[in-house]
Amino acid sequence: MQQNAAKSQAKPQAKHNGAKYIAAIDQGTTSTRVFITDTDGNVVSHAQFEHRQHLPRQGWLEHDPVEIWRNTRRAIVEALADIDLADEDISALGITNQRETAVIWEKATGRPIYNAIVWQDTRTNPPDSRDQYRYHEQTGLLHNSYPAGPKWAWILDHVDGARERAANGELLAGTIDTWLIWNLTGGAREPHNALHLTDVTNASRTLLMDLKSLEWSSSLCDDLRVPQEILPQIRPSIGRFGAVRSRGPLAGVPITGVLGDQQAALFGQNCLTQNDAKMTYGTGLFMLLNTGQTPVHSETGMLTTVAYQIEDQPAVYAQEGSVAVGGSLIQWLRDQLGIIKTAAETETLAAQVEDSGGVTIVPAFSGLFAPRWRPDARGIICGLTRYVDKRHIVRAALEATCLQTFEVVRAMGGDPSELKVDGGMTDNDLLMQMQADILGVDVARPENIETTVMGAASAAGMGAKLIDAPLPLGPITTFESEMAGPDRDRLIAQWEDAVERSYGQV
Ligand code: ADP
Repeated sequence: MQQNAAKSQAKPQAKHNGAKYIAAIDQGTTSTRVFITDTDGNVVSHAQFEHRQHLPRQGWLEHDPVEIWRNTRRAIVEALADIDLADEDISALGITNQRETAVIWEKATGRPIYNAIVWQDTRTNPPDSRDQYRYHEQTGLLHNSYPAGPKWAWILDHVDGARERAANGELLAGTIDTWLIWNLTGGAREPHNALHLTDVTNASRTLLMDLKSLEWSSSLCDDLRVPQEILPQIRPSIGRFGAVRSRGPLAGVPITGVLGDQQAALFGQNCLTQNDAKMTYGTGLFMLLNTGQTPVHSETGMLTTVAYQIEDQPAVYAQEGSVAVGGSLIQWLRDQLGIIKTAAETETLAAQVEDSGGVTIVPAFSGLFAPRWRPDARGIICGLTRYVDKRHIVRAALEATCLQTFEVVRAMGGDPSELKVDGGMTDNDLLMQMQADILGVDVARPENIETTVMGAASAAGMGAKLIDAPLPLGPITTFESEMAGPDRDRLIAQWEDAVERSYGQV
């Protein structure tokens, strides 16, 4: 079992004289992290534990919810202990989480009846992909393998007696936020206190919530065969989710902010005004554009989702464009091709050549997502000549990231004057400069690129009325576009030609 407690570096000593701190849990696909920040956005402590990835079959991915809950407690304890804080120093707790990952557990014991089915798991892919737009108008989502609802139905169908037990009121369903809130507020030891809640952003990723009413839709629940009785109550993201149980760390601390991970990054980047957008460069690439109080349906392959809702206020919506392969292409260069040793090396290698030497990489490892949605595409590298060496390939990989981002930004429409960016890949200055060049707009990177967990802390701080705007992320570095128009056009034309060649491979 791989579990690394990542130690934070030189931490300032926390002030205990009445200072208020916010704790935030970031329950991600590979690890669970806890950050503690003051109300000025200074991160005073953090801790992280990885959890196991269970791959029972090709295309399946599961997590053990009990391991995730244990890691959450351990990360909270370590983050507190490292800086010598006590429960009473923490004024609010926020949660952000991997979205669309589905759990069902026993109300009486807290025991999951099956592992969590992770968002990337493809077992619920409908057989006919022409049907994917069936629920788009009502939910903003495509009916593909991602949403949580069909995953709950799969568990109910495949665990002996589960449908009867659900009908008897013995089972509870949730996404990871719901699982953590239920455990934090009581769990198996105090099941009568435990609260069964979710926030509106997580609920918007299930295929069961009506985007306008913000309630579970009985027709969707019927169609997708998920009994409404097992679903949590939907709450505004910035509001009240109860207080942490007395047993265990953070006793009595109110949970006041809950957001799905991409929405948390949007919130953390302070994209609270219509037309504000952020792009997160992690394993995949995720763009969210704030569209204000109306859900806007796209004709160009974007999803419509809830961005956040503050208690007693209308919900704010977003358009979302997700690209499957971002940083994972860099991992592939490192782990499969072995042409780099570290992700950071891409910057030095790519900087040694002026361009990619005519090479284009289309990283359609499992088809292409937004804006093209082509499950039949597969990865290709084209334009190879005897002149090309690994530096050109590495540069082409960075270009592929920028060109995929360009396509999503273009498909979103609007005319952004700058793109706010975050995520692990944005450490790479060359990538950021190439992105500004290819987009033709400024790229703005905050000093603190941990926007997801900062978004959860901001939501919690605002929910507890400790702050009235998202926490600052430090000075912004702006990358300005320097590329001449014709050069950009040539690069884009070359990319579009390569993408066409990637189609029809399966
Ligand atoms: P996630 O939250 O999806 O796990 P992160 O935001 O932690 O992802 O980013 C990690 C990804 O970024 C990895 O895929 C890694 O290959 C890539 N990455 C990290 N540093 C760099 C870098 N300097 N240049 C290019 N890619 C990078």
